[in-house]
Amino acid sequence: MLQLPTYDDVFAAAKRLEGHAHRTPVLRSTTADERWGAQFFFKCENFQRMGAFKFRGAFNALSKFDAAQRKAGAIAFSSGNHAQAMALAARILGMPVVIVMPYDAPAAKLAATRGYGAEVVQYDRFKEDREALTRRIAAERGMTLIPPYDHPDVIAGQGTAAMELILETGRPLDALYVCLGGGGLTSGCALAARALIPQCRVYGVEPEAGNDGQQSLRKGEIVHIDTPKTIADGAQTQHLGQYTFGIIKRDVTDIVTVSDAQLVEAMRFYAERMKMVVEPTGCLAFAAACAAGDAIRGKRVGVIVSGGNVDMARYGALLSGAAAA
Ligand SMILES: *Cc1c(COP(=O)(O)O)cnc(C)c1O
Repeated sequence: MLQLPTYDDVFAAAKRLEGHAHRTPVLRSTTADERWGAQFFFKCENFQRMGAFKFRGAFNALSKFDAAQRKAGAIAFSSGNHAQAMALAARILGMPVVIVMPYDAPAAKLAATRGYGAEVVQYDRFKEDREALTRRIAAERGMTLIPPYDHPDVIAGQGTAAMELILETGRPLDALYVCLGGGGLTSGCALAARALIPQCRVYGVEPEAGNDGQQSLRKGEIVHIDTPKTIADGAQTQHLGQYTFGIIKRDVTDIVTVSDAQLVEAMRFYAERMKMVVEPTGCLAFAAACAAGDAIRGKRVGVIVSGGNVDMARYGALLSGAAAA
């Protein structure tokens, strides 16, 4: 039996993150409230360090290393936000870190990860198995592998985003919408919601093209899919994890999906009305809340804005309708 993390772990993570993670703002929008007839509370993790909530999970996991683990350091495979989160957390904690990335990862992401002081090891996506390569380096150098979502300390760290939101909004939320990829953020947020506001409905939101989580919830077991084609690149996961699914099937009300067109609409709203840059994956939660109609009317609705890392040329192209997945 897996030992699933609990709210106590989220609470302990919040203590570790104090003074290291930003306490991101909870923003309101009168326009959104009027247009959709609800009261929205936006937890803005696009303003988190390195631009996404993933700093929370990475920092929490690395903070728990013992002396030997700290000395040898950590390793991860990611070309997305987890890479930068691990790099920054390791730098703050003064430990070595290796990030395994494909040769064709975007130059900006490679530069950002190296910029935070990580050693980047590259591999050929079409010829090499990144997990095998990562495990080999981990074994050779005694490094501890931290996966992007399916790890108790990562989940607990991500849950602090919802914990802060819930504590700040005071009166209980009726619904909470969370962006869902591999489920680290959703499962952590569900732990916080179930402990603090048990009656709150908690929704994970996936891209329509990659609804493996929704299928898994319906089927009662983890469903694997091919890498989906969607502009939500942070949610192109092929399956949930053992830990994340264990929590999601127990604590999440439902998993819903949105189209890429809905993501662009939400992205435009954030830009025009709230003056903030949100990456496509970060728009999942709000896009679903907007589509919920009567289900949110008159309700207090929490929305996790998960990140803001998007290439500016791509951002412009998406907003002008010139880019697709
Ligand atoms: C990683 C990521 C997600 C998905 O998080 P999971 O924990 O994998 O579900 C959502 N939004 C952003 C911006 C991300 O970087």
